[in-house]
Amino acid sequence: MKAASQILTKAAKEGRKFLLEPEAKAVCMEYGIPVTKFKVATTEVEAVKFADEIGYPVVLKVVSPSIIHKSDVGGVLVNLTSAKAVQKGYKQILENISKHKKDAEITGILIQEMAPSSTEVIVGAIKDPQFGPTLMFGLGGIFVEVLKDVTFRVAPLTADEACEMIREVKAYPLLKGYRNTPPADINAIMKILLSTSKLVMEHQEIKELDLNPIMVYEKGAKTVDARIILE
Ligand code: ADP
Ligand code: MG
Repeated sequence: MKAASQILTKAAKEGRKFLLEPEAKAVCMEYGIPVTKFKVATTEVEAVKFADEIGYPVVLKVVSPSIIHKSDVGGVLVNLTSAKAVQKGYKQILENISKHKKDAEITGILIQEMAPSSTEVIVGAIKDPQFGPTLMFGLGGIFVEVLKDVTFRVAPLTADEACEMIREVKAYPLLKGYRNTPPADINAIMKILLSTSKLVMEHQEIKELDLNPIMVYEKGAKTVDARIILE
């Protein structure tokens, strides 16, 4: 788990309170958590080159140590389908940021694979003052935000506990498929829960982790946004 340690140490040394999305995703990758393909561009030419490599459609996002909620400041553009759109989007994001957050230091622009929409789930971790690292699971969007349909377990998780977490949310039947929606890969969610448990157990400097959303497919899953907050 060398790269993960290096990333976390570097951020702490720089006095940062959260990891940049590409850093958080690199940490996730080291623990086998599936994430969208991504690259960080620092010029428009590079942005197009990376988009060509990743394949269209792509998503562009601002990478900045002073921006934690990227879409709030016009820092996320989804579904860009051509080199031209990437060039335009690159400029657009810089313009949006200069309007919303003038003094923001910009590390680069994240170019990433656009994950096809599907059933969305959330995996989170917090550090409970009494119990230590604790995992959270729920279905995305209104299920978490409005209905608070989430479940918690103290880490480290066993496979049985990961399975229980998934089964005990009220929205569980949605994962089993309904009408035109095919069943979601529950095994892939279980793996993510177990890997996240391992990650937060081995890195107690993580105060909060948020994989939100994770797109779950019939086969496999993909983390679209990852946030890691440091102690
Ligand atoms: P924020 O920092 O505002 O939370 P996100 O990275 O979550 O920014 O992007 C905002 C939204 O854009 C996501 O919740 C998701 O709906 C969509 N999105 C972001 N990245 C992708 C992607 N790679 N594929 C598909 N949708 C995406
Ligand atoms: Mg997000």
